[in-house]
Amino acid sequence: MVAAAHINSWYALTTPDRTANPALEGNIDCDVCVVGAGIAGCSTALHLAEKGYRVVLLEAERIAWGASGRSGAQAIFGVACGQKKLEKLVGLSDARAIWDITVEGLKLQRDLISNQKIDCDYVAGQIQVAQKPRQDQDLRAEFIQLQQRYNYQSVSLIERDALNTLLASERYFSGMLDTASGHLHPLKYTEGLAAAAMRAGVKIYERSGALSYTRQNKKLNVTTAAGIVRCTSLALCGNAWLGPFAPTLAKKIIGVGTYMIATESLGQNRAAALITNNAAITDMNWILDYFRRSSDHRLLFGGRVSYSGLDTVNTARATRARMLQVYPQLKDVKVEYAWGGYADITMNRAPHFGRLEPDVYFLQGFSGHGIALTGIAGKLLSEAIAGTNERFDLFANIPHRNFPGGAALRRPALMLAMLWYRLRDLL
Ligand SMILES: Cc1cc2nc3c(=O)[nH]c(=O)nc-3n(C[C@H](O)[C@H](O)[C@H](O)COP(=O)(O)OP(=O)(O)OC[C@H]3O[C@@H](n4cnc5c(N)ncnc54)[C@H](O)[C@@H]3O)c2cc1C
Repeated sequence: MVAAAHINSWYALTTPDRTANPALEGNIDCDVCVVGAGIAGCSTALHLAEKGYRVVLLEAERIAWGASGRSGAQAIFGVACGQKKLEKLVGLSDARAIWDITVEGLKLQRDLISNQKIDCDYVAGQIQVAQKPRQDQDLRAEFIQLQQRYNYQSVSLIERDALNTLLASERYFSGMLDTASGHLHPLKYTEGLAAAAMRAGVKIYERSGALSYTRQNKKLNVTTAAGIVRCTSLALCGNAWLGPFAPTLAKKIIGVGTYMIATESLGQNRAAALITNNAAITDMNWILDYFRRSSDHRLLFGGRVSYSGLDTVNTARATRARMLQVYPQLKDVKVEYAWGGYADITMNRAPHFGRLEPDVYFLQGFSGHGIALTGIAGKLLSEAIAGTNERFDLFANIPHRNFPGGAALRRPALMLAMLWYRLRDLL
């Protein structure tokens, strides 16, 4: 087990132990240095190595220590801000092209799981559920948009009666099932990607935080506590933890704490009755509830967020209260694990990819919607480094604003905005 290194989550408990990779000591040359061994970094490294690049991947903690090892792990189409918003940001044609890439991301993930033989409990099926009449209307409009405007045919609408046979909850009006989306064990998946990257030749150093980089002649020097990586390109995939390493990136995102719980095992029959088709479920509130069954018959439930930083106090109790609103019949059930992680949210909730300098690339701002998108994002970054920029630039062209007020005021400003959305959830 890897629980000693990772936070104490159900994922850590159920992931086989492995010997940690060494920390970087001394100097090493490579073509590309990737920073951050979440899904984004591991996918970038793997795809670059497959193209013949010599790659070093630096991870400050352990592989999958960040959001990728803690996630609700619902692998869903699209981007967090939705297609309607994306169309406003980049126009219909680019929004369509981005949509197609996100759908390709779902397939890429399934292909990686099968080609790299990653044992990560992948289950097909995800249902977005409407809890209020307004959301029911929005869901129907989204369904028509996806089928007609985006020609996306793996979605189907589920009316209330049918939904009641799938979900043992009275809470929802309707749902939209996507059979191409799904869910998985994110820590096992990310470990599997890292193993695939290493088989392809990537050198991964754990407990090797990248502290800064400088330029010397045509090379970039990335410094860690005990070594230097000399490279010609740099790929930053550090989510909300990069901070001082790249301050201009930090202005575009804010780390929002989001929390999950795992119940005790419910036994096969009781767990199966909660979601009979074993799909992953997300509601449509701004602060959304998301839940699914685990392979050992628990309910994994996420929802609560904290805009004032990661606060683990009372998390289990508060998230359990949300779970009981969906499934009051679980009143007698114990919560065995509770954990949190940061999601890197942008102002407009669209993903933020780009270049800090011509040879320094970054992927961030997945805004809580990164399990599938991070994988294809890594592939796009590898294409850009190899000189094919078009697909990466579709994302790099999405406009983004800094959070207002500088570091000190960013969080209060976001909290105020979120208060408005929270109130909206109540209507
Ligand atoms: C609780 C939770 C639930 C979620 N649920 C869902 C969901 O259901 N569906 C969905 O699509 N998305 C979900 N997300 C979001 C999704 O998990 C993330 O978007 C995705 O995992 C981000 O991957 P990443 O590789 O960009 O970042 P991470 O996985 O966070 O990896 C970044 C890594 O970079 C390392 N790092 C940072 N700085 C440095 C440095 N200077 N040097 C070296 N290493 C560094 C960190 O240690 C970390 O390991 C959820 C997130 C959380 C926290």
